[in-house]
Amino acid sequence: MTTVKKQYEEIYSLLEASKNKKVSTVLPQLIELMSRKNNSSGQANTFLKVNDEVVAIYCYYHKKWELLSECEYGSKKNTATGYNTMCKEGVSKWTKQQRVKKLANEELLTRVASGEVLPEDIAVEQGLIAEQAKEIVPREDGHGTDEAPEVEPTRQQAEDEPGTEPSF
Ligand SMILES: [Zn+2]
Repeated sequence: MTTVKKQYEEIYSLLEASKNKKVSTVLPQLIELMSRKNNSSGQANTFLKVNDEVVAIYCYYHKKWELLSECEYGSKKNTATGYNTMCKEGVSKWTKQQRVKKLANEELLTRVASGEVLPEDIAVEQGLIAEQAKEIVPREDGHGTDEAPEVEPTRQQAEDEPGTEPSF
């Protein structure tokens, strides 16, 4: 079997499976594979590891890359990182918005019942409520970047080259 560097594995298997196809038919898939950052371990692009340690997470709430050294993240079982998908500040904002959304929807029923909102306007009102719940309140410290932070894993040569037997 051909030994392929880990970061090329997906590309290799795609090419292998598409041997008789025109390049143009697989190019979009190739571009996606090659442009995905930090994909060397095949992980979803929502967190960044250095030497097996999670250093940054793409915050589900803030939609920004956040460094764990700068932001507080609660730990959570059964996630790829062992951390929550949102920073603590995000969790608190998100939870609050969900609560407001639930209340607003309940209130909407009352407003329809009282005749304040016409039945044909329910969808519009619900849309407004949903929009408000999606609003992102930026972190108070302003931390977070759109692009994944540039932290290069300090890989050991041994990962790319076959290791030599230790001699005693
Ligand atoms: Zn966040």
